[in-house]
Amino acid sequence: MKMQNRQTLLDRLEKKSAFSVVVIGGGINGIGLYRELALQGIDVLLVEREDFCAGASSALSRMIHGGLRYLENAEYELVRESLRERNRLLKNAPHYVSPLATTIPIYSWFDGVWGSAMRFFGWSDKPCNRGALVIKMGLWFYDVLTSSERVMPKHRFNSAKKTAASWLGINADLVCSATYYDAWISHPERLGLEMILDVQEQSNSALALNYMTLESSEGAALQLKDSRTGQCFSIAGQVVVNAAGPWIDLTNQKMQHQSQVIGGTKGSHLIINNGALLAALDDHMIYYENKEGRVCILFPYFGNVLVGSTDIKVESPKGVTCTEQEHRYILESLAGVFPDIEIQPQDVVFSFSGVRPLPSSKTATNGQISRNHSIHIQPPDQHRPYPVYSMIGGKWTTFRAFAEQVSDKLLVELDREKISSSQNLSIGGGKYYPNDQSQKDSWLAEFSEQSKLSLNRAETLFQRYGTRARLLQEYCDDTDRPLEHHSQYSLGEIQFLITEERVETLLDILLRRTSLAISGELNLAMIEEINQILSKLKGWDQLKTDAELAGALTFLEKNHGLEQMTLSNRPSYGEIKNV
Ligand SMILES: Cc1cc2nc3c(=O)[nH]c(=O)nc-3n(C[C@H](O)[C@H](O)[C@H](O)COP(=O)(O)OP(=O)(O)OC[C@H]3O[C@@H](n4cnc5c(N)ncnc54)[C@H](O)[C@@H]3O)c2cc1C
Repeated sequence: MKMQNRQTLLDRLEKKSAFSVVVIGGGINGIGLYRELALQGIDVLLVEREDFCAGASSALSRMIHGGLRYLENAEYELVRESLRERNRLLKNAPHYVSPLATTIPIYSWFDGVWGSAMRFFGWSDKPCNRGALVIKMGLWFYDVLTSSERVMPKHRFNSAKKTAASWLGINADLVCSATYYDAWISHPERLGLEMILDVQEQSNSALALNYMTLESSEGAALQLKDSRTGQCFSIAGQVVVNAAGPWIDLTNQKMQHQSQVIGGTKGSHLIINNGALLAALDDHMIYYENKEGRVCILFPYFGNVLVGSTDIKVESPKGVTCTEQEHRYILESLAGVFPDIEIQPQDVVFSFSGVRPLPSSKTATNGQISRNHSIHIQPPDQHRPYPVYSMIGGKWTTFRAFAEQVSDKLLVELDREKISSSQNLSIGGGKYYPNDQSQKDSWLAEFSEQSKLSLNRAETLFQRYGTRARLLQEYCDDTDRPLEHHSQYSLGEIQFLITEERVETLLDILLRRTSLAISGELNLAMIEEINQILSKLKGWDQLKTDAELAGALTFLEKNHGLEQMTLSNRPSYGEIKNV
């Protein structure tokens, strides 16, 4: 493993002040492009103002999907591309992307035929409820689009009786349901980071830095600032790619280009810890319409249930959070599907929000705005001697295809050859992944023997990191010990994440390197314990250590609905779970 600490990376940036391509924004689109260009041997710099995948790329509904709903907007190409990319992710990132059986409750036979047809031909953009016939047509088409490379079963319809028996407590007004297959992603933030680490392993000319902001520019010079130290850098790029997602227009302004290409909508989700709801899902995603015909989802997620999302136009992507009104809206829409399951306020263990970087649009409803991706090119002018390519929109699912399309254009611009394809390239812990249960058992037995970890612990690490779990061996030796406040994590594991995985802040660990926050497992004592480990490795003084903790707690309260009082009252996993 080619480990590089931050200072080494900053020294490299200091020495090399000009790159063929500079990518602004380390969400999934920027990261995908960075990996794609590094594969082609291009010297590329990626700068991310916060942590990798801290923006829209951590706020998704965690579906890796074709987008059944987009068929109504006649976006076949998008659906076809998404299904292809979904299948590739199932193969290239099997440690985090898995099939998900999805069931649609249906409340009428023929509703929506007229409304869907109107939307299909572009004569209306009003949402409406969809009956069995419309859904049948959509699912049939979905199956046709995947027929040449089918990796999951075709759709099926379930009678009302079977639906009621399979999904206990589901709204009894339904006439039938339909089940089809898509996929979900467990750790999107980790998958993004693993691509950064893959490039680090393989390329000497590519460089990616989190906590590095594009502040301004003058002529050819881009002014960057390291938010951890305040150090400034002046660098140049032959081409600059603006992959700042919802912040694309604001970032273009920093390069003296006034654009209005983004029309973001905010989406919020809740994580609900409720045994009856979890049991009722029977391991399926329920893909349902609320009363206005908007599609919402709920599915099992780390022993809880993920429910969402809202879709609200916002003027600015800054500091969006799940408001009380959205919270209520999500719970009300959920009650339409499972009317008898009561959700108590304390069942909501986490919430998250983000802004979809959609293209600016004049459609009457947000659901009709295209989820397709596009490239906006601003040629060089009197303010800038370099062109700016903006990566607009897209879905997490399609990041690789989008990155490949932009990279192909950049190769032409740079007069370079395409030398490699990412289509079949495994990512991070998805490399050399066991193909079936017996291979997995052998992998685990061998890992457990070599590392001297119990089979249980080896399996936990495998679930979290895929085959990258092997890298933890060195940190989880016989001097390692479980965390006092979460016995399923160990000191060595947290030290590994901090040392090897570009951790700069406490929130990087809680929100993005682990699933501690989103799984609803955080408690105050655990946060303090992890902060102490971080502080020790970073050599922080008491003042800095306290400030880090206070900053993280304020952020968790404001952005994820986790009040300090709630965190103090939560049980310690050291007490209730044992490895
Ligand atoms: C609510 C919601 C639900 C979604 N659900 C799904 C889903 O289920 N499936 C799916 O496939 N897709 C889904 N998406 C879409 C998908 O998440 C986004 O399209 C994708 O993450 C966009 O990635 P991005 O890299 O363009 O933007 P971002 O992830 O926002 O990345 C942009 C980055 O640029 C950085 N930045 C901004 N300004 C600067 C600067 N000056 N200097 C340096 N860096 C800067 C930001 O900090 C940010 O990290 C969803 C999105 C949302 C919001």
